Amino acid sequence: MAMTSLADALSTLLAQVDSTPVTEWVSLEAASGRYAAEAPHAALSVPPADNSAVDGYAVRVQDLPAVLAISQRIPAGTAPIALEPGTAARIFTGAEIPEGADAVVLQEDTEQVDEGVRLPGARAGQHIRARGVDIQAGQQLVAAGRCLQPQDIGLLASVGLDAIRVFQPLTIAILTTGDELREPGTGDLAPGEIYNSNRFSLAAQIRALGMNVLDIGNLPDQPERIGDALERAAAVADCVITVGGVSVGEEDHVRGQIASRGTLNLWKLAIKPGKPLAFGEVRGTPVFGLPGNPVSSWITFALVVKPWLIKRQGGVVSAAPRFAVRSGFELNRPCTREEFLRVSFAGSGMTMRVTLTGSQSSGVLSSLSEADGVAVIAPGQTVSEGDWLDIVPISALLSPEVA
Ligand code: AMP
Ligand code: MG
Repeated sequence: MAMTSLADALSTLLAQVDSTPVTEWVSLEAASGRYAAEAPHAALSVPPADNSAVDGYAVRVQDLPAVLAISQRIPAGTAPIALEPGTAARIFTGAEIPEGADAVVLQEDTEQVDEGVRLPGARAGQHIRARGVDIQAGQQLVAAGRCLQPQDIGLLASVGLDAIRVFQPLTIAILTTGDELREPGTGDLAPGEIYNSNRFSLAAQIRALGMNVLDIGNLPDQPERIGDALERAAAVADCVITVGGVSVGEEDHVRGQIASRGTLNLWKLAIKPGKPLAFGEVRGTPVFGLPGNPVSSWITFALVVKPWLIKRQGGVVSAAPRFAVRSGFELNRPCTREEFLRVSFAGSGMTMRVTLTGSQSSGVLSSLSEADGVAVIAPGQTVSEGDWLDIVPISALLSPEVA
């Protein structure tokens, strides 16, 4: 079977998926991490009026420099009256600028005298935060599809909104396969067993996107049981993700069961770690079959499944950032696949280098756990120390905000 590049697989997959139609209203308290289903606009400007950026005196520039009488006191939250010409108004940070004043003089630049306050010259507009400098009435606040972040929630609140329409979270069923897998907390390993780690990393990856996990647990390597579980999961979830059993061994039954109970596309992705990826549907529900090796599963989810899920969820996200950092290692054997190397940052600023965190085997989770990012190595590329490498931070691979 020919290998498929990551870019081709992604464009094929993303072309076939539309946003879920199911939306709901949530209060701002519950909106963080949800995907906006509307693009709210501001009904008013922020700030709603010119106000003072400092504690000081509101004045008319043309009256300065001078000693001026203090004609009013304007704490934040009070409504000022028009400034009497030839006087100064005592004003505090956030308080509205009185009509007629065109500058604020910083308290530290003034001197209290018997007749009032001694003020130096001033520039029109100084220390004034203009009405609408933050938000203009009518302006779009966030785009539809935005995964709402804490600062977005604050922005919505700043124009007086207390709720927003968002997409209802998808429910993703996950099931792992393998006779060798034992669940953590169910006793010591018998000969031949290992603990089921993917079940936990995958569930956490999905939850980090704000989606619900329906955990079907682990299934033995028995075709009928795997097939039945696939159908049950497909009947209740928006998407099913399986782990293991998609390569070519005779104990790999997931592939065959997706094919016999629905439709299957099997790809050999030209990525390392990774490679086998099943995509199809059972009972009309999309199914992804991830490879079993823990790092392959993690990275295939991050690179392929995550963008698909976010689009299905109604999210519209920008491309994950790639940073250029110099290599602190060599790579002499070129790989025919696009390679994602687990790296950590050493040093900072101009002297920053990335170094490999350890074994790059697809079964070695510890080097992924230690990594700050992955270095993206093109097929055929070799690396010398000091070369610029493209680095994608681990946080971006997990993030619901980029893909
Ligand atoms: P498979 O894709 O089922 O052939 O599995 C490939 C490798 O990944 C084997 O060494 C499995 O033992 C291991 N593996 C599969 N599933 C899991 C899992 N859920 N947790 C940890 N290791 C796994
Ligand atoms: Mg297996």
